[in-house]
Amino acid sequence: MTRLATFTEAQGGTKGPRIGCVLEDGRMLDLSAVPGAPGAGDMLTLIEGGPAALAAVRALAANPPAAAIQPAGSWRLLAPIPRPRRNVFCVGRNYMDHVAEGDRTRGITQSELPKYPQFFTKAPDCVIAPEDWIPAHAGVTNWLDYEVELAVIIGTAGRDIPKEKALDHVFGWTIGNDVTGRDLQRRYGQWFKGKSLDRSCPLGPWIVPVDELDGLNTGIRLFVNGEKRQDSHTSKMIFDVKEIIHQLSIGFTLRPGDVIITGTPEGVGYAMQPPKTLQPGDVIECEIDGIGRLRNVVQAE
Ligand code: MN
Repeated sequence: MTRLATFTEAQGGTKGPRIGCVLEDGRMLDLSAVPGAPGAGDMLTLIEGGPAALAAVRALAANPPAAAIQPAGSWRLLAPIPRPRRNVFCVGRNYMDHVAEGDRTRGITQSELPKYPQFFTKAPDCVIAPEDWIPAHAGVTNWLDYEVELAVIIGTAGRDIPKEKALDHVFGWTIGNDVTGRDLQRRYGQWFKGKSLDRSCPLGPWIVPVDELDGLNTGIRLFVNGEKRQDSHTSKMIFDVKEIIHQLSIGFTLRPGDVIITGTPEGVGYAMQPPKTLQPGDVIECEIDGIGRLRNVVQAE
């Protein structure tokens, strides 16, 4: 598996963010240390380099030059795209069991399937890295909650993309956690306010290229302090990734490096009996088979 990462030095250090490949034994191939390597700049440069750039990176990862190896423990991950150029695009209510659990909290017993994807966004500077802390936002929200989601990274621009061509526009897959202030989500009607709190979009740990994982058919899970809260499969999406890209791109140009998170399955905290909210010290681990785990800790603030 190719694991395309944005990283920096483990502690302090003067070098800025770089991109690389996480190798099997925890070493990092530092692409900035390979003369002429594609993507020596940032992840967007690599994405915009297209298939040739990705092929070159894969060849380097298969036979990494010794001078470009960073040993395990010497680096730490940033979000693969630390600051998207545009808002993170999101889909709400995209797994039937999650629609039903949400309706139950409002006393609705017969849930209706959404007819179209429900789009909203999170501001780009909500994005945080694997292992970064999530503020508890005490005094702002009483109902901080998690949502594990498959994240799609767009590779090539397109508008009015037909469903059958949608995956041609995808660069790869990663994991997102759509951290949400539930009370704010409801109070303001429009979801943006409850979905766009500071540091509310953990993203990572790396990008797996689109052709190395069938993102439409993979397991998706979330754990809080080791307790499994969400456990589903991306094949259960109401609108699959192809349909989401098709619908979002109607009259709207998707661009390389755009991030789309595709909805969360059942098992969110506010729908539990009794409901559970995130608390300082909670460890949240989001897991997608074929990608890995994205871990963050809630801290008082
Ligand atoms: Mn969500």
